[in-house]
Amino acid sequence: MTDQERGAALEAIAAEIRTCTRCRLHEARDKTVPGEGNPDTEVVVVGEGPGRDENQAGRPFVGASGRLLTDLIESLGWRRHDVFITNVVKCWPPGNRDPRPDEIAACAPYLQRQLEVLDPAVVVTAGKHSLNVFMPGERIGRVHGTSRPADPSTGARDALVFAMYHPAFALYDGSNRSTLQTDIQGLPGTLEASRRRREARSTPDDPGAAIRPAASAEAAASVDLAASVDLAASAEPAAVPWPTGVPHPEAPPDPTPPEVAAPVSSIAEPRSLPPSLAGLPSEPDADQLTLF
Ligand code: URA
Repeated sequence: MTDQERGAALEAIAAEIRTCTRCRLHEARDKTVPGEGNPDTEVVVVGEGPGRDENQAGRPFVGASGRLLTDLIESLGWRRHDVFITNVVKCWPPGNRDPRPDEIAACAPYLQRQLEVLDPAVVVTAGKHSLNVFMPGERIGRVHGTSRPADPSTGARDALVFAMYHPAFALYDGSNRSTLQTDIQGLPGTLEASRRRREARSTPDDPGAAIRPAASAEAAASVDLAASVDLAASAEPAAVPWPTGVPHPEAPPDPTPPEVAAPVSSIAEPRSLPPSLAGLPSEPDADQLTLF
């Protein structure tokens, strides 16, 4: 898929979201918040749901949490508009309450389709509701700063999921800011590890690598997991129900060890990296921002 085709596909999804009435959240919203960023990115950040500011702006993470998220991204020498930022639910839960299970379920197909189009190498979860989509049953206190292969049924067909606290965690208590800052330093390494996994699967000399979990891919994934807790042993059932096709949080823990990547049936096309994700410092350029 070309960059232009990705942009068009994301815009088509955003157009559906703008008229969506699948759950009660449409009644109180001012603007939907489909997401924004670079359609050709390797990194997708998934927050929980728009807040009051985002509901007014129609853009994700533009309030206090957003400023901190942007600072964290820029602390890596990356730029906000080089990644893609979206949320589990695309409409503001009134009063900034948590999204409810049926609202999350109603909105899930949008996130899944966005991820199918973007085919990211890394999905960054920001907050517990996002974590619950990609690491069902996990607790953020145990897995923050670590990664594991994404379940392809989430839409991210060949990605590592990198777990982070929600930026609001630092807003409520400033001493938590250093935890977020420390955790995000692991993101570039996770991106490198994911690239190696994806490359290992698409090696032309070894066509079999595309249809089985390659030993080198497992090794790459374990780079991040080595620093993490025993994820397989720690899974606990969570209370949030989930739609068909997406891992159910109340299901028993997946017996597959987390460091073993699931087989993939297709090979993702390698994409070029925006200069800033290659570590080249550059100035933010608001004109390049793409709203979806
Ligand atoms: N919090 C979120 O989870 N998402 C936003 O877009 C803003 C705040």
